[in-house]
Amino acid sequence: MSVRKVTIEKNTERKLQAFRFYTQLFFIAVCLWIGFEFHLFVANLENPASLTNISRPPGVEAFLPISALMSFLYFLKTGIIHTVHPAGFFMFIGFIAVSFAVGKSFCSWICPVGFVSEMTGALGKKLLPKNWKMPRWIDIPLRSLKYLLLLFFVNAIFSMTAVELGIFLNSDYNIVADVKMYEFFRYISFTSLVVLTALFILSIVFQNFWCRYLCPYGALLGMVGLLSPTKIKRNTVSCIDCSLCDKACPSGIKVSVKNLVISDECTSCNSCVDACPVKDTLYMQNVVLKKKVSGTRTFVIAGLIYFLIISTAFALGKWQNQVTFEKYKAIYQVKDAIGH
Ligand code: SF4
Ligand code: SF4
Repeated sequence: MSVRKVTIEKNTERKLQAFRFYTQLFFIAVCLWIGFEFHLFVANLENPASLTNISRPPGVEAFLPISALMSFLYFLKTGIIHTVHPAGFFMFIGFIAVSFAVGKSFCSWICPVGFVSEMTGALGKKLLPKNWKMPRWIDIPLRSLKYLLLLFFVNAIFSMTAVELGIFLNSDYNIVADVKMYEFFRYISFTSLVVLTALFILSIVFQNFWCRYLCPYGALLGMVGLLSPTKIKRNTVSCIDCSLCDKACPSGIKVSVKNLVISDECTSCNSCVDACPVKDTLYMQNVVLKKKVSGTRTFVIAGLIYFLIISTAFALGKWQNQVTFEKYKAIYQVKDAIGH
């Protein structure tokens, strides 16, 4: 029997998980700040005596992905950046561009829902005697749910003409979509509360339940991420088959049996890379250039793309929307009567 001899050099690369955690915390803080500013904006609309605007934070449009997708399609059809939720349009382009460049990192570095999902999963690991995994025969059909939801939205939106898209984007419903979303949580119904509680419990038992099975945005970014040249690469010669990468992967990918991780579930979180004990055995690689890309460089590339896209929006004067305070105030009075 031949025994393979390898010299194990310890993995001394800079670990990214603590940095990723603080980045996620930073974006949670940004979301809370946006939420607070938006609360002030709505409170001002509610007050009949208010005569002046309180600035509405454009960042809130990151929570309107359907409107952003429609604005994106409208732009492709007409060449015009729609003025109702332009920040959402630019952020959507940023998330797609970064997913293409370095994989669906939005989910593991920025998304507040992804962060909460990760934390509830970690809570589950502490509270429960064992880690539950969905049986494979249920896992695969359940994973297709998020694609079905995505297909539903994409089919509905892509069948619209430019005129129809313009009518929707200009509609009162689209203008106050963020206010309606805010009020959904502010005056949450009993049914919605039950659904959210069920999702929370499921996320404790099954890691990343929402992201893995139900999030259509994650499905879209995962499909774009599949096209990305940046992938996790395993060096099969130096690998010692310890399976630590498998244990570390929050997406349940069997990294230890792959040469290259090509998966819509990979979120470029680098947990597997950090867990690998052997130097230069697991790393991110640009498979087109055949070059190793360090986690830090990946982060810098993503940051630069976001910076460039958001700066472009500012330079074009398109970050803030063009809806006047008077228009907001008028629509707010009748918002409960406004449907799709
Ligand atoms: S394969 Fe690695 S980078 Fe991808 S999700 Fe799993 S742990 Fe994260
Ligand atoms: S962590 Fe994964 S890639 Fe690294 S040595 Fe162990 S099995 Fe191989």
